[in-house]
Amino acid sequence: MTALSTAVPTKDAVSTNSTVPVTQAAGLGAQARAEALRSSHGGLEGPDLLRAMILEAFPGRIALVSSFGAEAAVLLDLVAAIDPATPVIFLDTGKLFGETLRYRDRLIAHLGLSDVRSIRPDTVALLARDPEGLLWKQNPDACCAVRKTEPMQRALAPFDAWITGRKRYQSASRAGLETIEATGTHVKINPLVSWTEADLEAHLVARDLPRHPLVEDGYLSIGCMPCTDRVPVGGNARDGRWAGLDKTECGIHIGEVDGSGI
Ligand code: SF4
Repeated sequence: MTALSTAVPTKDAVSTNSTVPVTQAAGLGAQARAEALRSSHGGLEGPDLLRAMILEAFPGRIALVSSFGAEAAVLLDLVAAIDPATPVIFLDTGKLFGETLRYRDRLIAHLGLSDVRSIRPDTVALLARDPEGLLWKQNPDACCAVRKTEPMQRALAPFDAWITGRKRYQSASRAGLETIEATGTHVKINPLVSWTEADLEAHLVARDLPRHPLVEDGYLSIGCMPCTDRVPVGGNARDGRWAGLDKTECGIHIGEVDGSGI
């Protein structure tokens, strides 16, 4: 990314900027819609892309999915500046750090977010498949399915599109990310793909955003407590997730959310 702008656009400032007929893509399947949006908006990133998607392409039909983790404040801040009533989906797996739950509440108040949906796993499914709460140890993919992927599927049902905070620098599996993708029945928007760690830090400082309290303790990518480790100095942030396992994603980003398979 070049020339990062930390200026936060407002809803009023963009409401008439509809030179591209993004709504013409409505009614298409997710794949065709993503392709249409890439043609019309492929050159946009960051706040400009968010503004177009939230206000023009998917008004009332798009949600931000946030972990309220280490860097989440940046994207939450950008979205709140456009419309603080944008739905935010937070997967409360039952295995999160207490610090994350408190940070969620702090950011909600700080940013004025008015529609944060804390989604819990289905009680009956949890009792049947993880009665002792130790599935993460025996079969982490099955644990992510019952605690993350399936709740996410339910939470996304009312929407046509969702926004993620994934960046290309985070891992080899994310290096080829596009700003607009299709996943099963949904369009997925990745407005920060080319942001660097320095870009994120600059935004956090410029906007004086609260930090996740575990970052200063060495947790650079923060998910569930049993599956998150500190990252040694100089290490990749994602190295702290499922350390020692051949697992790099929880499943919500690899297709099964929409039933399209892993
Ligand atoms: S990250 Fe770990 S604890 Fe959380 S849902 Fe996945 S396997 Fe379970």
